[in-house]
Amino acid sequence: MQFIDLTAQQARIRQNIDLRIKAVLDHGKYIMGPEIKELEDLLCSFTGAKHCITCASGTDALLMPLMAWGIKEGDAVFMPPFTFFATAEEPSLLGATPVFVDIDPITFNMRPDLLEKAIEAIQKSDPSIYPVPEAALKRPLTPRAVIPVDIFGQAADYESIMPIARAHGLMVLEDAAQAFGGSRHGKKTCALGCHASATSFFPAKPLGCYGDGGAVFTDDDDLAELLRSIRIHGKGQDKYDNVRLGLNGRLDTLQAAILLAKMKIFPDEIAARQQVAAWYSKYLQGIPGLTAPCVEEGNVSAWAQYCIMLPEGRRDAVAAHLKQQSVPTNIYYPKPQHCLAVFADLGYTPQSMPAALYASRNILALPFHPYMDEASVWQVADAVAKALS
Ligand SMILES: *Cc1c(COP(=O)(O)O)cnc(C)c1O
Repeated sequence: MQFIDLTAQQARIRQNIDLRIKAVLDHGKYIMGPEIKELEDLLCSFTGAKHCITCASGTDALLMPLMAWGIKEGDAVFMPPFTFFATAEEPSLLGATPVFVDIDPITFNMRPDLLEKAIEAIQKSDPSIYPVPEAALKRPLTPRAVIPVDIFGQAADYESIMPIARAHGLMVLEDAAQAFGGSRHGKKTCALGCHASATSFFPAKPLGCYGDGGAVFTDDDDLAELLRSIRIHGKGQDKYDNVRLGLNGRLDTLQAAILLAKMKIFPDEIAARQQVAAWYSKYLQGIPGLTAPCVEEGNVSAWAQYCIMLPEGRRDAVAAHLKQQSVPTNIYYPKPQHCLAVFADLGYTPQSMPAALYASRNILALPFHPYMDEASVWQVADAVAKALS
């Protein structure tokens, strides 16, 4: 059994992928070829966002809006600690200080009530309100932005986050790297009303290409123009008229061609993911001590990962038993961001973010992809049940 099986998908669309790649080889426009605009238009109509700016990775999709907003040293950028490193890495690269906000233990997404506390703690340089980085005590930081993460494919609570951000003048950058194709109250992720949204087309993400890729979405015309400039070395009227610092941040034409072929079956795959998740719920139900993932009412998850919570201290044995039964598993994430060596100088202790710490110790990701059949889901669930009995 494979953790994520991309071969079943490829078999289904191979002919179309071959045709798309051949078209690129024939026209030869490997950089910013016509497939880029075709894909950006398609992703706009799919999500409902006004602008789509494709780029080289999900990481660049996070970096570019932060660059456009002038995030810099002395700025505080808020984010959950239970995420992939890039969420905290990009603001840090620009010299800003990441300020972590603990997660809800059920959805694993950032808690808006704690965001409010963290903002107040930064404004007052008072760690008795909420844990803050040591830098915030030496010199006051300016709250500038928040990066909520739609973890494992499920959108964060933007109805609560946006008013808090507005009240404090914070820019909101949705990290939808795992959530492309998901929705909240009928609106697609990347078009949930944030100032900008970032997604990733890394092969294992819900919509993946055959290499690195990403995209930024926004309804803001001025921001879109800035992002298109930053994507190509801060270009002005032409690419040798550089008016600001930027990146080599383009998506390859070949990757856009592959994504165009994949988009044909993507809505179908999102539906198939709901079916696989429903089978898991059915067969995992009632296993003592296990908590299956919970999707909030109004959310449709893109199911980037299917993660269960195990009783404290049982994970290693369960994972070993599953491995013995040829069921691969993974851990997202073994270390929350506030415990990483690279952020040691922020001065957090593991207990600063208790919910993220608890999740990192007891979470386990099971095999999941849209081509998984009911018998395989049953097999995994049965192995989990036996491991816990
Ligand atoms: C994958 C991921 C990223 C980074 O995307 P890349 O395309 O690998 O650069 C950022 N944030 C989260 C939450 C991710 O899962």
